[in-house]
Amino acid sequence: MSEAEVRPTNFIRHIIDEDLASGKHTTVVTRFPPEPNGYLHIGHAKSICLNFGIAQDYHGLCNLRFDDTNPVKEDIEYVESIKHDVEWLGFHWDGAVRYSSDYFDQLHQYAVELISKGLAYVDELSPEEMREYRGTLTQPGKNSPHRDRSIEENLALFEKMKNGEFAEGKACLRAKIDMSSSFIVMRDPVLYRIKFADHHQTGNKWCIYPMYDFTHCISDALEGITHSICTLEFQDNRRLYDWVLDNITIPCHPRQYEFSRLNLEYAIMSKRKLNLLVTEKLVEGWDDPRMPTISGLRRRGYSASSIREFCRRIGVTKQDNNVEMVALETCIREDLNDNAPRAMAVIDPVKVVIENLPQNHEEMLTVSAHPSKPEMGTRAVPFSREIYIDRADFREEANKQYKRLVLGKEVRLRNAYVIKAERVEKDEQGNITTIYCHYDSETLGKDPADGRKVKGVIHWVSAPHALPAEFRLYECLFNVPNPGAAEDFLSTINLESLNVVHGFVEPSLALAKPEFAYQFEREGYFCADSRHSSPEHLVFNRTVGLRDTWAAQAS
Ligand code: ATP
Ligand code: MG
Repeated sequence: MSEAEVRPTNFIRHIIDEDLASGKHTTVVTRFPPEPNGYLHIGHAKSICLNFGIAQDYHGLCNLRFDDTNPVKEDIEYVESIKHDVEWLGFHWDGAVRYSSDYFDQLHQYAVELISKGLAYVDELSPEEMREYRGTLTQPGKNSPHRDRSIEENLALFEKMKNGEFAEGKACLRAKIDMSSSFIVMRDPVLYRIKFADHHQTGNKWCIYPMYDFTHCISDALEGITHSICTLEFQDNRRLYDWVLDNITIPCHPRQYEFSRLNLEYAIMSKRKLNLLVTEKLVEGWDDPRMPTISGLRRRGYSASSIREFCRRIGVTKQDNNVEMVALETCIREDLNDNAPRAMAVIDPVKVVIENLPQNHEEMLTVSAHPSKPEMGTRAVPFSREIYIDRADFREEANKQYKRLVLGKEVRLRNAYVIKAERVEKDEQGNITTIYCHYDSETLGKDPADGRKVKGVIHWVSAPHALPAEFRLYECLFNVPNPGAAEDFLSTINLESLNVVHGFVEPSLALAKPEFAYQFEREGYFCADSRHSSPEHLVFNRTVGLRDTWAAQAS
């Protein structure tokens, strides 16, 4: 099924359908508003597919807007990575990239408007006092002693804040709403705070920065957003969103709708925590193939379409959920089963000598790139007297269930001939070093003439042509299904999440493109690593195994 055929339906799309039918809106404008304080993760992909997907399906527009109000935690590196990830996922934002910081002048004007209406004041409580005054879920807050300053005094103090005449933490601008509201966000929320920090977009122009709640609704309104879609933790903030827009002079009032965040088992979906993994060097970087980031999944070999398909399948609701890793893996496995070219790689090699072939035998076999897709073409696979097979594909003795190579028995070499194991050579520790075989020259692409049945098929690589390769086999980064809930999530890290082994690949993989996955027959899906692989030193990441191993573990 192609994505185009399966237009998703969900409660947000129902609301849009109604708004279009009633004439409330004639067009749809959404936005994806990341804070550039980390790389995007698979949770963000859900929000991206939702916002950009709606714009696509309704012939509307979707903006990319950086919610960049906290210069201390933000960085241009994150801005660049986020733009790249959104494009890689296959989406296009309307017009130029936008930044909340584009609106700092207007935001400042609106703050002045609120002060002038007696709806905002400069407070000088310390952060600790402010916390104390705020009250709790069960107890109302109390008014700050500075709450009733005159409008003139507030205007003058806010100007002083803007001019850098207060130290950080010594003053802030607060909305004057209701310290006893049952919604804590409505207890005189902070609108502006002082930060003497250079901003990646505005440099040192400002030393006061607007808070998220104040900035977000105004940015949405200035951009003419019709449906402002966010995650459920902002449900209470909707009151403040509406309060700000209701109390300033702005012609547009977008509506906010909330959906539940994606949580993925055995993974972390918080940029703050992902950042900790990076800074503590517990992973190689934001794009470590074990990370649930878009860049990590890409480096691991995930395709953009598999991630979009995953987001389509999980759907959009208001229910809390913890999606199983198998759901994500199934999407990439299905995609690669259909689309990945096949190749042969031996991950745990042992040498096989085919004694009835001449020393210098070299034969080029023409092999299809995909068993059921002739349009994907063919590749040349060399065959010679010495080959490698996987150690697990040979036994000196075995029962009938074992359909691979056994001493005295036959097996088919994938895409090549039938061989029979005659004897083995071992080292001093008793490990097999070489398996000596004979081959049947009449079995290329056909069964033995005398009716002998050869059931097993194993993969192999010609030894003189084989390219040495490093294989990185990944497991989950965490040992527990919900590491985010652990008191110390770092203690739930799986120390064996990366297993590096060395073997060989067929020569056609010399120029394997990074991030482009192959099916290594009988081994799994692999792609060359974008950071470490080079023609001199091939490194392959295992994207995903051939079969769902979660089911096997559970039973
Ligand atoms: P994090 O907790 O990972 O830092 P965030 O919400 O602070 O996430 P933002 O950069 O503010 O990250 O997120 C941009 C958009 O992506 C927001 O609209 C947010 O609601 C959405 N988003 C973030 N995480 C998820 C998730 N796990 N599932 C769905 N949407 C998400
Ligand atoms: Mg955020």
